[in-house]
Amino acid sequence: MTETVLDPYEVGRSSERAFWADSVADAVEARDPEDPIVIKGGVSPSGVPHIGHFNEIMRGYFVAEALRDRGHEVRQVFTADDKDRLRKVPRKLADLDWNVVGLGEVDAGALGRNLGKPYTDIPDPFGCCESYGAHFTNLLKKSAELVGVDVEFVSNTELYADGEFEAVTRRVLERADRAREVLSEYQNKVDEDYVPFVPQCEACGKLTEGVTEVDLDAGEVHYVCADVEAGDQTIEGCGHEGVAGLRDGKLPWRFEWPAQWEILGVDFEPFGKDHAEGSWPSGEDIARNVLDVDPPVPMVYEWFTLEGEPLSSSSGNVVTVDEVLEILEPEVFKYFFTKNPRKQRDFSVANVDRLVDDFDRFETVYFGEVDPRDETEKALAERAYPMVVDEPREDRVRIPYTFAAVLGMTDDPGLREDIARKEGHIPDDAPEWAVDGALARVERARNWARRTSNEFDYELKRAELPDAEFDDATAAALDDLADFVAEGHDGEAIQGEIYETAKRHDVDVGEFFAAGYRLLFDDTEGPQLGPFIAKLDRDFVVKRLRREA
Ligand SMILES: [Zn+2]
Ligand SMILES: [Zn+2]
Repeated sequence: MTETVLDPYEVGRSSERAFWADSVADAVEARDPEDPIVIKGGVSPSGVPHIGHFNEIMRGYFVAEALRDRGHEVRQVFTADDKDRLRKVPRKLADLDWNVVGLGEVDAGALGRNLGKPYTDIPDPFGCCESYGAHFTNLLKKSAELVGVDVEFVSNTELYADGEFEAVTRRVLERADRAREVLSEYQNKVDEDYVPFVPQCEACGKLTEGVTEVDLDAGEVHYVCADVEAGDQTIEGCGHEGVAGLRDGKLPWRFEWPAQWEILGVDFEPFGKDHAEGSWPSGEDIARNVLDVDPPVPMVYEWFTLEGEPLSSSSGNVVTVDEVLEILEPEVFKYFFTKNPRKQRDFSVANVDRLVDDFDRFETVYFGEVDPRDETEKALAERAYPMVVDEPREDRVRIPYTFAAVLGMTDDPGLREDIARKEGHIPDDAPEWAVDGALARVERARNWARRTSNEFDYELKRAELPDAEFDDATAAALDDLADFVAEGHDGEAIQGEIYETAKRHDVDVGEFFAAGYRLLFDDTEGPQLGPFIAKLDRDFVVKRLRREA
C-alpha cells in the first residue's frame, strides 16, 4: 500500500474549485479509479428517516454528478445496514405514508422481545413489509425517490446471505491476531479473547458475542449465547451453545465497514463526525493492514441542526423528507446540500422562506438575470444549478415565497393567479407549465403557513367584503389610511401610519387594528398589519379600507 493517507477533514476543501463536490471529485480522480466509480453511503434502518440522513445521500450525489459530468460512469450505492441489531425500542415510528406514531399504536411488546436481533429478523410493526428493517429501508427509498435522486439500495443482510461477505470474513478470522492488534489501538475492550465475528444464535435469533472457538477449516464459529451490553442496558442471551457458519452472523461494525468497501469496490464515501472520530481511523487502518485493500476517499460532513437543536429521532426533533417537500420544491431541498458540507448549518422550517429566497437568487445568477456578488457566486451557480434541477429552463417562473404565502391565504386558484399576474409575478407570455410550476409554490407556502402558524396562516376574505359596522371616527381613519396606502409605502411606514392615523382620529389603537383585521380576515386578529398590507396588491387594499369592495 503506497497510497498516502487522506484526511477526511481536508478532502473537498481546495479553494481552487467553486463547488466543493468538484474538489472531492479531484481527489477521487487522483486515485485513477476504474469505471464505474462507486460512491457509497449507508445507515441502519433503525427508525423514522429524517433530513439528517440525507447527508449520506446528497453529499454523495453531488460528487457523483461532478464525476459523471467529467465523463465517468458512477454507481451511487446506499447500504441499508440492516443486519445490525435493534439496540433499543424507538419512541417514534412512521408508517409508509409518513404518519409518525408513538409506540402505543404498534405492538411495542414484540419489539421489546426482539431486542438484539438484526433489523431484518424483526417483524414489521406495521405488518406491511417483510421486516422491521425492510420497512424503514422502504421509507429511505421513498425519500430518495421523492427528491429525485437515483440511488442503488443494497441490503447488508442480503450481502451476507448471498455469501458476499464470506471471503473477507474468513480473511479477518485468519488474521484475527492482526485484527486484534490493529483494533486495540482504537478500542479499549479488545483483549486476547476478542473474536472479530458476531454469530447469530440459532436458538433465539439474537446476535451474540460469546464466541468460544473458531474452526476455519470447517468454516464454523462455536458460541454460547451470552448477554450483550447495549448502551446502558443489557440484552439477555438465551444461553444456547451452538455453531454458526460464516454467513450466520456478521462482522463487528469496525470490520464490516471496510469489508463493505472491499465487496462493493467503494471509491468515495462521505460520513458524519461521529465516524470521523471513531470508525474511520480504525476502518482505514483495518482496510490497509488487515484486509490489504485501499480505503475510499473520505469526506466528513457537519451535522446540521433543526431549529437550532440537534436532529434527534428519540427526542422527536426531526423533520422527514416528505414533510419538507410539502413546503419546498425538491430543487430547493437539493440546493440546501450544495452548501459547504464543513459548515454547521441550521435547517429552519420557520425561516424556510430565506432558504427559498437564496435558491431563487442562485437560479437567477445561473441565468444571468442578476449581477453575481463575485466570481465565486457565479461559478458555483453555473456548476451546481444544473445538478439540482431536472433541466434548466430559462422561462420558468418563481413567485417569491412570502408572496406565495400571501396568495395562499385565499383558496381560489383563479384568484391566486390573477393577483400574481397583476403584481407582475407571472409574465404575460409565460408558458402554461411555468405558470403551473409557479402556482404550485403557493400550495407549498400555504402548507408552511399552516405548519408554523405564522403570520400567513390566515384566511384572507378576498372575494367579498366582510359584514362590519364602524363608528364615524374609525371610518374616517380607515379612509385616511387608504389614502396613505394608495401613495405606495413600505410595510414599516404603513405600520407607523396605522398608529398615527388612530391617534389623529382619537380611535383606540387596538380597536383600529381590529377594524383592519375585520375587513381583511373577518377576524379580530391577524398578522402584523403594516408589513402584511404592503405585500398585498395595493388596489385591493385601498378599496377594502374604503369598504368599497
Ligand atoms: Zn412496512
Ligand atoms: Zn440465543
